[in-house]
Amino acid sequence: MGRAGCRTTLVAALAAVALWGSPAGLAAEPEPAGTVFVLSAPSGTGKSTLVKQLLQRVPGLAFGVSHTTRAPRPGERDGVDYFFVDDARFNAMLARGQFQEWAEVYGRRYGLSREALARQRAAGRDLLLDLDTAGARTVRQTMPGAVTVFMLPPSAPELARRLRGRGTESTAQAAARLAQAGRECAHFGEYDYLVVNHTVDQAFRELEAIILADRARRERRRAAARKILAGFSAAPPGAPGTAPD
Ligand code: ADP
Ligand code: 5GP
Repeated sequence: MGRAGCRTTLVAALAAVALWGSPAGLAAEPEPAGTVFVLSAPSGTGKSTLVKQLLQRVPGLAFGVSHTTRAPRPGERDGVDYFFVDDARFNAMLARGQFQEWAEVYGRRYGLSREALARQRAAGRDLLLDLDTAGARTVRQTMPGAVTVFMLPPSAPELARRLRGRGTESTAQAAARLAQAGRECAHFGEYDYLVVNHTVDQAFRELEAIILADRARRERRRAAARKILAGFSAAPPGAPGTAPD
């Protein structure tokens, strides 16, 4: 490529910068914080299973650990799955306004603390939240840019099989959760995405695709684009036309 070719490349690069958006679009705008992803589903659908897989297999994703007054299930760890607290502690946090949102679900209280949310967001990571439909609505209203996903079971009988098969609730508790499932499913239309959890592998691939597509949004790639385009602003060393005579 001669001088003319090089100049054309430079002009094209500058035009690309201009076309990207306002000049500030590339030069001065701060990078957006990580995206908040909300996953909702009736109890027993497979949310915890999929959350675990996503956290293990998708780099750069953190979990927003909620506080709850329900007892831990076998294998659940305090501070990892939930912060398990008693009613007095939950009340004290409520009184101090420490929750970004909270809800009573199946007779127990669950809440996402502002502090847990801020800590993860400050780290710049994408954040995955497991919230009921009321919590998802609050996030939608208070956190523009949040991406919401509803997960459905393949059928009502399969949901009952999964929930009972998990064996972590009494028969009465499982029945209460199943009784609410239909009402919860009716909210799917409020969400950005709908995933049907036929198999763990298929649901994982769909959820991963949603996260990866969001990361490829132009506004989330500004830093990478700035870096690449900066390389066009000076003639590369040794490029034709720049070599010493
Ligand atoms: P949730 O967190 O939504 O209440 P879990 O992740 O605890 O649900 O899953 C409920 C039960 O269903 C668990 O025993 C889990 O292993 C099982 N499960 C999850 N996804 C699937 C699937 N795609 N096919 C069959 N069983 C599943
Ligand atoms: P589980 O007892 O099965 O872990 O959760 C019961 C329900 O509470 C699920 O629908 C879950 O999404 C919801 N949940 C968990 N944490 C929170 C939270 O912090 N806020 C809200 N609104 N719902 C939550």
